Amino acid sequence: VVEARDVVLSFGPTPALRGADLSVGAGEILAIMGPSGSGKSTLLHCLAGILVPDSGEVHFDGRRIDNLGETERSGLRRDRFGFVFQFGQLVPELTAEENVALPLLLNGVRRAKALEQARPWFARLGLDGLEGRRSGELSGGQAQRVALARGLVARPRVLFADEPTGALDTLTSEQVMDLLVDSAREQGTTVVLVTHEPRVAAYADREVIVRDGKAHALTAEAIS
Ligand code: ATP
Ligand code: MG
Repeated sequence: VVEARDVVLSFGPTPALRGADLSVGAGEILAIMGPSGSGKSTLLHCLAGILVPDSGEVHFDGRRIDNLGETERSGLRRDRFGFVFQFGQLVPELTAEENVALPLLLNGVRRAKALEQARPWFARLGLDGLEGRRSGELSGGQAQRVALARGLVARPRVLFADEPTGALDTLTSEQVMDLLVDSAREQGTTVVLVTHEPRVAAYADREVIVRDGKAHALTAEAIS
């Protein structure tokens, strides 16, 4: 479904990605691991059309997307992708449920309907009672789960999640991963997640390691 081919991207003089290749199949759950600063978030942003590579290609559904204009790429992100940022990036002035409803509102769903569709996610993610709380007043782990709900609410074809369990304790991480796997299986959602926790990566169908801006299949050689 999503594929990166020889993707190169530099911030200033130092390359963050140096020829990364990666592909994810429909309904597959892929975990991206690797050291801090190796290029995981940058690769995820390229796959999701948030960043444009300096060279190389990104494909979605067999169609090249890295060379589309900003309008077309943001349309694709809105209609097909869900994205959970490493640091949540909720709108602090909005309530938790307004944040979750945001992708639906952007898709033209009426406010009452959007909030109604947002609500069940609170129980699913152990966030009961926090619907009306301003997002700026949530704990890190609560905000992370709200961000995940926002990523899933519009039932995207592909969910990109950058460290979705980074601020969660072990038990809550497991609950969140169970939910993610269930929704992937039920909806056929493709999930690409970045994590540094082997326990979280174990939920994936497949793991890749990003090292020095390149992606490697998980083999003994890649780990050593
Ligand atoms: P972490 O595990 O710490 O989240 P990461 O693997 O996600 O790390 P990236 O965020 O992709 O790493 O960063 C890759 C490299 O690119 C790093 O050297 C980082 O400092 C640099 N970098 C990332 N974003 C920017 C930016 N907006 N401007 C300048 N440099 C950046
Ligand atoms: Mg990162």
